[in-house]
Amino acid sequence: MSSATGLPNIYSVELSPPDISGYASGNTGIPYVWTFDSGVAGPHVAITAVVHGNEPCGAIAIDWLMQMNLRPLRGALSFAFVNTAAYEAFDPEVPDATRWVEEDFNRLWGEGVLDDPDRRVTPEVERAREIRPWLSTVDLLLDIHSMQHKTDPLIIAGPTVKGRTLGGQIGWPGIVVTDKGHAEGQRMRDFADFADPASPRNAALVECGQHWEAEAADVAKDCCIGFLRATGAVAPEFQQDRMNARPPKPETKYYEVMQPVTIETDNFRFAQDWRGFEHLEQGTLIGHDGDREVLAPHDPTVLIMPSRRLWPGKTAVRLARPIEG
Ligand SMILES: [Zn+2]
Repeated sequence: MSSATGLPNIYSVELSPPDISGYASGNTGIPYVWTFDSGVAGPHVAITAVVHGNEPCGAIAIDWLMQMNLRPLRGALSFAFVNTAAYEAFDPEVPDATRWVEEDFNRLWGEGVLDDPDRRVTPEVERAREIRPWLSTVDLLLDIHSMQHKTDPLIIAGPTVKGRTLGGQIGWPGIVVTDKGHAEGQRMRDFADFADPASPRNAALVECGQHWEAEAADVAKDCCIGFLRATGAVAPEFQQDRMNARPPKPETKYYEVMQPVTIETDNFRFAQDWRGFEHLEQGTLIGHDGDREVLAPHDPTVLIMPSRRLWPGKTAVRLARPIEG
């Protein structure tokens, strides 16, 4: 198996993906999807992990919550391991090779995509169709991810004000980024009502740090705690002993992605080895797409998650500005 980017991996693999085969049966009729109903009225709250197969921090967090036999105080609580086929193919020798089996699971959620009869049916499309009936009943979603580069963890709040509000209520990590997603296709966190400003259904996506750094698993647990408290699925003091030993709750900072840089040529390269959260002056050279210069469009321009997958149609980096919450 070769590296997905053709680039050497520059980060050590500190996390070991837990064995999740014991969760395969699920209790919903859908493999790896578990739902616990309190019997009391309340929202259906869900946490999802391994939408990308090489991001083990979310699997560690859900495994931890499942092992404590957590049950909701009200409503229903679900846990789901999503792209398990990609997850099971993880190889620490080539850890970036298993983000997906055939395509990015997190670009399939635009209207009509999963029902398009002309679309190629990949393992990701099959799994997305399998979980969609369950996902369609989720009111409040936390989708756990991690990043290519070691940079501050952040919550991707999607396009709506309600997403930004939920991000702030979760509280950990303390960076909330509003954005419209990728030209390549819609994310699960933006599926249907999650991105409809008029719907009370809501979602957050958390990027917990570098894919394989040990701290990412702790950030994933922190974020789950903040999310579960914010939704009322658990008591406000849930896991307070743990949080007393963690860094204090940060003051949330908010950013808005003004535009993604979508790659147009097969010759995109960055001008510097950007890692994310650099604050650039307007006009700073970010990179080249073929002969075209990509310049920082505003002052400051904050780089969000520069990618190493620099292929046509992909997002090279997102360009953001600080905003008020
Ligand atoms: Zn991811």
